[in-house]
Amino acid sequence: MPTPHVSVEGFDTQTPTGCMRMNAERTQETSLLTGCERCWPESAEAAWKARSDLRERAMWIYESHFNVRGLECQHCTRRFVSVFTENIDWAHGDDTQNWMMAPVTVSEYRRLEALLASSIEAALRVVPAARRSLCRHHPSGDDARTFWTTGIDIGLQD
Ligand SMILES: [Zn+2]
Repeated sequence: MPTPHVSVEGFDTQTPTGCMRMNAERTQETSLLTGCERCWPESAEAAWKARSDLRERAMWIYESHFNVRGLECQHCTRRFVSVFTENIDWAHGDDTQNWMMAPVTVSEYRRLEALLASSIEAALRVVPAARRSLCRHHPSGDDARTFWTTGIDIGLQD
């Protein structure tokens, strides 16, 4: 059955280029937000190394097993939100550590900062779920892995 041919606001919704253009505009704000080649290189391992060059703008939450920080690239001024969590392994004393980090716009940064006072969960939801993020996972008794993922999900609802 042929699908109806509809035109919306001057472009043909049936053509893939129309869809792609719309997606590109949307992803600009979400998954494609990046930093420069210094702070957000192609490889996840390199991005993890580059993290140590970022300037700390804010230490919003600093607890021994949980912290949330605002970082900034000294080269391109891109801001990042970084979250560290540690799950205590009482049996082995070797705790699972997790770092997640995502680039944010200045307005997202401010919104996140404002929300942190009332709800950490709501604050971290400011980072779009589709936003490319960096994760370093160091499981108890195993080697650390660094990989690209999306959003900042630290399982606060658990
Ligand atoms: Zn940068």
